[in-house]
Amino acid sequence: MSEPGEQHNLPIVEGGAGASRGENTRAVHAPRPPAPAQPPLGLPTYRTAAFRFDTAEDYADVLGDRSSGYSYSRVDNPTADAFALGLASLEAHGVDRPVAAQAFASGMAAISTVLLTLGGVGKHVVAPAAVYGGTFGVLRHVLARFGVDATFVDGTDNDAVRAAIRPETAVVWAETIANPTTAVADLPAIAAICREAGVPFVVDSTFASPVVCRPLQWGANLVVHSATKYLGGHSDATGGAVVGDVDLVAHVRKARIDLGGGLAPDEAFLLHRGLATLPLRVARHCATARAVAEALAEHPRVARLDYPGLASHPQHALAGKLFDSGPEGTRYGAIVTVTPEGDRDTGLALCNALRVAEVATSLGGVHTVVSHVASTTHRQLDDAALAAAGIGPASVRISIGLEDPDDLIRDLSAALDALG
Ligand SMILES: *Cc1c(COP(=O)(O)O)cnc(C)c1O
Repeated sequence: MSEPGEQHNLPIVEGGAGASRGENTRAVHAPRPPAPAQPPLGLPTYRTAAFRFDTAEDYADVLGDRSSGYSYSRVDNPTADAFALGLASLEAHGVDRPVAAQAFASGMAAISTVLLTLGGVGKHVVAPAAVYGGTFGVLRHVLARFGVDATFVDGTDNDAVRAAIRPETAVVWAETIANPTTAVADLPAIAAICREAGVPFVVDSTFASPVVCRPLQWGANLVVHSATKYLGGHSDATGGAVVGDVDLVAHVRKARIDLGGGLAPDEAFLLHRGLATLPLRVARHCATARAVAEALAEHPRVARLDYPGLASHPQHALAGKLFDSGPEGTRYGAIVTVTPEGDRDTGLALCNALRVAEVATSLGGVHTVVSHVASTTHRQLDDAALAAAGIGPASVRISIGLEDPDDLIRDLSAALDALG
């Protein structure tokens, strides 16, 4: 015999339940427990494409934006919104205006949606020459076909940015930390130029994350992220986000709904979970990166080492001003680009000699990964174009993971020693 109360949470159906309905109807309309009165500590994954309404009028009101609510997951999904809200609260720190956010299926879904929202026939975009390859592709190969012109300038040259702005300029684009040179954009100076010209300023802050730098604080109107990198942080989920001024993000949301690049609930769950440890992870990534950069800069085989935390970096002082710090010191990011003396084969040999760091694409995850720049992310550039971009034929980009710093320093030093 069960004690009173033992049946509280026991799933029970009445005897003869549903006898008036056929087995298929009972299977499809299977009973569910009521929504728990106790909010779950973990984030529920709303793995549903559609939401049910009590009345046809409620459905019409939500779809017509007359009342808030969920209708269809391409339009809005609560798990995706939880990720967007979590990121907004990190990016909004130190920002004295409301901040809105939208979650996307990838960084490129976020970036293309922003550009399609702000661009249009006859419009113009100013972007850094070293802009992420996917963003370059959208500007050069997609938007160009729809009448949007783009000018690519040295993103660290504020006068060049100012000079490139035209009356029809609809976006000035920047990246907080450039790939793979780690050049740092002067966000407040570019923001002032954009304010004066009345042009929205959009910053891809993927390489920094809000733990290193929050561009909204320095005057950006929108921040975009590949959440695939630091925000998720474990190389197991793909996503993107747009964060910033409420009116602009509202326009971006409309375009997202129509273009269909929203974030799926399962990915949103993983990316939201990543946010919980983002400050701990990124602080550690940065501290290890600084130790690795300082050690490798001394290595006799290294011709050049790019890391904003080194005094030799051209924007070291600017980074010190724009980047956050914690008990471990200033966070200068965790991308280190090492250029040994030598040719393309030297860079490939360096990658192949590593035993802890792995050869893989992407960045910002727990594993330390390396890319030989000339044969991967910048494969379209010849040696002269590489040199103009500050990249050597042997340059290797390292995304510093969460391994023990000494193991990484030993691994990278041994691989450099092995170059002979
Ligand atoms: C990876 C990356 C992107 C693209 O993000 P996906 O999630 O791969 O679509 C955009 N910008 C930067 C700086 C990136 O590193």
